[in-house]
Amino acid sequence: MANRLFSVEEKVILITGGAGVLGSSMAKHLLSEGAKIVILDLQQERIDEAVTDLKKTSSQVAGYACNVLDKNSLEEVREKILNKYHRIDALINAAGGNMEGATISETQTIFDLKIEDFRKVSELNLDGTVLPSIVFGEAITNNGKGNIINISSMTATRAITRVVGYSASKAAVDIFTKWLATEFALKFGDEVRVNAIAPGFFIGNQNRALLIRENGDYTSRAETIIRNTPMKRFGNADELNGTIQWLLSDASSFVTGTVIPIDGGFSAFSGV
Ligand code: NAD
Repeated sequence: MANRLFSVEEKVILITGGAGVLGSSMAKHLLSEGAKIVILDLQQERIDEAVTDLKKTSSQVAGYACNVLDKNSLEEVREKILNKYHRIDALINAAGGNMEGATISETQTIFDLKIEDFRKVSELNLDGTVLPSIVFGEAITNNGKGNIINISSMTATRAITRVVGYSASKAAVDIFTKWLATEFALKFGDEVRVNAIAPGFFIGNQNRALLIRENGDYTSRAETIIRNTPMKRFGNADELNGTIQWLLSDASSFVTGTVIPIDGGFSAFSGV
């Protein structure tokens, strides 16, 4: 039997970006632990594919198309979810990431950066976390108990070359996490908590081209990352699941406003 302290059973958990690499991996794990999962993503077709796949783990999964940058679209989906489940216990803000246009190439400098691309990536990571937290957070605070988990990054606290907009907006996600944790605890009580995880380096859709050459070899950037990771490897998506479950469960009942690195030691290591 599952350990009750760490239980997520029957919790209604929303995952934005739930059709993506990390979001769908979290969804799969939480379903296997008895949670009810609602994945939210941009395109219905990708959601349907992800839901079909997740149903192999549990039938307690649904998916809705919405845009995390559009408050109306989020509110429409909130109504559908509340009609079906009558409550929302948790939100994982996993929609986000870097964008090709906002990456400074090896031969460019900051002076080549297009501000429109900087804005786009900033908007996705920051507004795309803030807006769902407002729309779904209201339903969570109405329960008087629940959780929001944001996804930060190693780029939030130290300069990682080339991804300036991504870095700046993930740093903003860190302080928003602390700010909202404080707001919720002060105004809605000690059972509404907000935390973030900061994954180290995982091979995903958005960074594959920066890390893996067409022939499968690591790029020099990937080699630099491994050199600076004491565990000497990239992470596997399922290595986020233990921390996610702990944060969602009563086992972390006195934990709020934290950003937890899951990074094989990258953020601890000076490189020497
Ligand atoms: P991914 O691209 O596989 O998934 C992101 C999902 O978000 C996609 O399915 C995409 O369709 C969805 N999305 C994008 N814009 C949206 C919008 N406006 N509305 C709704 N959905 C939208 O990326 P991933 O690797 O799973 O990353 C998930 C989160 O983890 C991101 O915030 C990313 O920055 C963060 N992260 C990833 C890594 C990594 O190594 N993969 C490391 C650190 C942090």
